[in-house]
Amino acid sequence: MTYDAIDTPATSAPTMKPWIAAIHAYVPGKSQSADGTPLIKLSANENPLGTSAAALAARAGALDAATYPDPDSVELRSAIGALHGIDPARIVCGTGSDELLNLAAQAFAGPGDEVAYVRYGFSVYDIAARRCGATPVVAPDRDFGTDVDALLASVTPATRVVFVANPNNPTGTFMPRADLVRLHCTLPADVLLVIDRAYAEYVDPGDDDGALELAANAENVLVTHTFSKIYGLAGERIGWATGAPSLVDALNRIRGPFNVTTSAQAAGIAALADQAFVTASRTHNRTERTRFVEAIEALGNHGLRAVPSEANFVLVLFEGALTAAAASDGIARIGYAVRHLPSQGLPQALRITVGTAEQMGHIASALRAMAEAVR
Ligand SMILES: *Cc1c(COP(=O)(O)O)cnc(C)c1O
Repeated sequence: MTYDAIDTPATSAPTMKPWIAAIHAYVPGKSQSADGTPLIKLSANENPLGTSAAALAARAGALDAATYPDPDSVELRSAIGALHGIDPARIVCGTGSDELLNLAAQAFAGPGDEVAYVRYGFSVYDIAARRCGATPVVAPDRDFGTDVDALLASVTPATRVVFVANPNNPTGTFMPRADLVRLHCTLPADVLLVIDRAYAEYVDPGDDDGALELAANAENVLVTHTFSKIYGLAGERIGWATGAPSLVDALNRIRGPFNVTTSAQAAGIAALADQAFVTASRTHNRTERTRFVEAIEALGNHGLRAVPSEANFVLVLFEGALTAAAASDGIARIGYAVRHLPSQGLPQALRITVGTAEQMGHIASALRAMAEAVR
């Protein structure tokens, strides 16, 4: 029998679900220029200090590739729980926090439901909402930061999940504890509040937003963390989430059964034990971010402005003659990739990861030269 003999229906190709067809795939940070020249990546908020040496050694020591990893990441969850004072039964690990953000939307929202987040939020929230057939609802920001009232006003009886990142990406803005508590208190109890703390370790410990306390005490708060940012393990893809047992149970039902690799679990455990590396990374970031922001503020008369950041990147606004697109090209010419986000409604901005002192000095000088040249 030939294939011609098989009855084919009129529509012979699989049809994507309309809500999947509406998704714009995630655009990762660039690592090369338009002509293919490799660039130093200050476009993905990776740690310029690299990774803890102890974590790298533990990762290299994970020699068994033939057997499946621990499906429940038991030791990793217990190390996370010990560091943060959380019962490991209330923790679920993921293939990066991206997996967990998607699972949170999928477990609690579906077609006909709404998923809310702020404009200039993390682009994964839009994908997570659409992926499960829910409708994304975007609340207006307040000067690039989260506007609690606007976010609450976007909530309708159809809202099932609200995503906030604190600090937020791509803006770097931070919601203080009082705002987060007010957001949680005012949200209906049957709406899941997901607090994405990918950059929380960069915040001074004295300014903690209290999200983990909410996750420990409320029935409707899920907090996510990642090893991709301050821990310098983006390549190993490890995230974790904590919340009420019913929330953790929901995510455990639908996560990948072996979703954290053996080497990732080993690296994560060792990274948690090396808090000196975390502290050094936070200190480095604060010093270089402050210096870079001062350099941008000195260009205020050229229309450059830095959105206040508590994260490991700065969103620089170009409101004068020098455009963000031209600045991005100029920065690429001196060898660096930064993030221009016109597709996220930010054609006038560049998100620049805080790199080494030398890298930030190069970029600040280049911006000054360009701003002065287009005067
Ligand atoms: C980088 C980032 C993450 C982390 O994603 P992983 O999948 O854990 O690498 C999560 N949320 C936000 C807002 C981020 O910027």
